[in-house]
Amino acid sequence: MPLLEVKDLHTSFRTEDGIVRAVAGVSFSLERGRVLGIVGESGSGKSVTCRTILGLVPARRTEVTGQALFKGRDLLKMSRAELRQMRGRDIAMIFQDPMTSLNPVMSVGAQLVEAIQLHEKVAGRVARQRCQEMLAAVGIPNPAERLKNYPHELSGGMRQRAMIAMALLNNPDLLIADEPTTALDVTTQAQILNLIRRLRREFDSAIILITHDLGVIAEICDEVLVMYAGQIVEQGPVEAIFEQPAHPYTWGLLGSLPRLNEGREQLYSIPGAPPSLLRPPSGCVFHPRCAYVLPVCREHRPPLLAGDGPEMTNHRAACHLEPAFRVQESTRLFGQLESGSGP
Ligand code: SF4
Repeated sequence: MPLLEVKDLHTSFRTEDGIVRAVAGVSFSLERGRVLGIVGESGSGKSVTCRTILGLVPARRTEVTGQALFKGRDLLKMSRAELRQMRGRDIAMIFQDPMTSLNPVMSVGAQLVEAIQLHEKVAGRVARQRCQEMLAAVGIPNPAERLKNYPHELSGGMRQRAMIAMALLNNPDLLIADEPTTALDVTTQAQILNLIRRLRREFDSAIILITHDLGVIAEICDEVLVMYAGQIVEQGPVEAIFEQPAHPYTWGLLGSLPRLNEGREQLYSIPGAPPSLLRPPSGCVFHPRCAYVLPVCREHRPPLLAGDGPEMTNHRAACHLEPAFRVQESTRLFGQLESGSGP
């Protein structure tokens, strides 16, 4: 049984302007010890998908359907109290903004100790020692002193590390990290990715990493979901996504990665902007920006299907183009990129 199985998840927000369909039919599963990367532009539904699973969307204005089975139990059907118990012990989440997790009027030490004692009967002295060790593990110098500080007394990078320490304290079965390294320098980013690797290796935890950084995805993830306008447009093992991407949107994302060819940095961006989720485009949601659009694309949403061949069974894309044409085109585009002429 997978640790997490999300089935046909839909999340819609009621706003004054109408219904925003932020997540529209997302399904995936995740096993222990695996790292799943979710990639896409801002507003693609990456964060809302995870916040919905954790019950962190405003209940009164939100309509949620589907299932999110964690160890066989549906998180979407749990009470707020049950979810609170689950969060921090079995499932932890790291946000981009540390102040969403840290309480400004409590010292860092008090918050970390509380995070342990909420789920475990352990003496204050022992808990404090564990917190100190965890702060050291996330690269915070002089951890005994830092425990006495309030969040505003720490730099932005330190606060981010303190929040990561808090998430990792109880060795969660599932860690959801939303752009955890975006605001950090390259060295700290590498340390945090190492910590995530350690969590997976030592505790067999499953990890969902939400990011727009394909470099981070390539470095740490086993599987990838590519999201666009609230839908999964491509999913598969990380090697397949990077070596044989099968969706025009993924081609655009990969094409926009900076590359150094003959000393010049190449940049390519996808034309246009993501659609409004108040009135998403008909048919394939990517059609207004797609260079390959066919008449059928404007009318019918393409199903998420595996390509031809046994090695393609875990690699799916939602596109009306013939799979054989996509293989050919992706080889041509990325051949051009390597040779320096760009897509
Ligand atoms: Fe482009 Fe059509 Fe494929 Fe959508 S279904 S990505 S519009 S070719």
